[in-house]
Amino acid sequence: MRSRVVQRVMATAVALVGTLAGAVVTGATPASASPIRNTTPWSILLCRFADRPATPQPPSFFANFLTPAGAGTGGVADYFTDQSGGRVSLAGSTIRGWYTMSWTLAEFQSIDRWTRIQRCVDTAAANGYTVPAGHRIAVMLNDWVDSGAAGGRVLLDPGAWNVGFAAHEMLHGIGLGHSFSNDTTYQNAPWSQPGEYDDPWDEMSAMHIYAFTTANYGTSAVGLNGYHRDELGWLPKNRVFTMGADGIGSRTISLAALETPAATGPQLVRIPFNPGDLFNYYTVEYRRKTGWSAGIPADTVLLHEVRDGTPYLIRTGPGGGPAQSLNANGVQISVNGLAGNNASVTITTDIVNRCLLGYVWRDADQSDYVCVTPATRSQVAADNAAAASRWTNGPYGPHTCISGYVWREAFLGDDVCVTPAQRAQAAADNAAGPGRVLRPAG
Ligand SMILES: [Zn+2]
Repeated sequence: MRSRVVQRVMATAVALVGTLAGAVVTGATPASASPIRNTTPWSILLCRFADRPATPQPPSFFANFLTPAGAGTGGVADYFTDQSGGRVSLAGSTIRGWYTMSWTLAEFQSIDRWTRIQRCVDTAAANGYTVPAGHRIAVMLNDWVDSGAAGGRVLLDPGAWNVGFAAHEMLHGIGLGHSFSNDTTYQNAPWSQPGEYDDPWDEMSAMHIYAFTTANYGTSAVGLNGYHRDELGWLPKNRVFTMGADGIGSRTISLAALETPAATGPQLVRIPFNPGDLFNYYTVEYRRKTGWSAGIPADTVLLHEVRDGTPYLIRTGPGGGPAQSLNANGVQISVNGLAGNNASVTITTDIVNRCLLGYVWRDADQSDYVCVTPATRSQVAADNAAAASRWTNGPYGPHTCISGYVWREAFLGDDVCVTPAQRAQAAADNAAGPGRVLRPAG
């Protein structure tokens, strides 16, 4: 009995380690992992330089361009509504300004982006507007200095007053990072990382995206890739399918396009392949040339690898197009065909046929797929090697165990002679084994 209790405690300890490892992985991803839903109001502050009196656009322009006041005109609020499937709204956003700062354009050149934003926030406060708690902040400058995001706040000068640029920075503002490709020969800018910005089907690669010209607000945004929508909680749980979660390792799936949620079927498939990190997985998504993605070359299936919270578009090679098949890490993916709003994809994975981290196959014989600790596996191998020396010809046949040993019975007909403790171990492992096989969470 005692060994069984020890066994339970060990199993619990290993399970805890597994959970903690998962938590660490989650913690390593940006705060972006939390869903962004409901109302996410912004304070949009307009600031002009002490030596630049022009107001290139009236406040009403920014209301239409960035908030639901312009609903239906193809601005950023329309983009957020569409991409989130109506789960997020920029309602409650406020436009304030133009405020005149006490700093000149030249003085702004030599300070960092965060400080530039803060000076406009301070100017608004000095003029009676304090940004309410819970509001995100976007600052518009009336002349060309800098555009981008810093610490979740957004700065846009006249060069960035288009949907493609503004939506990208505001998505940074709610926690998304950049998308990459696996083409490490791609370098977007001297300061960017290899492969960074190389998923032109994803808004988080702007301004290297497949865009079109909007009717009212310049260059468009493109749709977000499936991982980014999933990260923000913008895909319903029942539209995201995780391979292996149900123990089935091979399927043909009819994917619905991300752009056409009314079509039936999953919109994103995750395929975990790394037993040490279930947050390291492939994704499969189908993209249609319509809506905000009208600028992409054609309908296409896209494959990504998600690693440390970043999606990497899988290309066929340096400078190549999006891969339409994959055979790596125990995973095979092939695209069977596209038909309207659905794409047929066949996926096979061996993730359902592996032990959890911390366990290995017992291998008591060649077809023994019970997961045990490495120490138990070593003991089983040693017992197998010693088997012949522990048999004797007794009254019941040639395979009776010598004194002190009993049949192990790890499987039916297992007559390797072991200590009673090892026999109990085998029985406990047989009972616990199914719980130690990898099952990605659905
Ligand atoms: Zn960016």
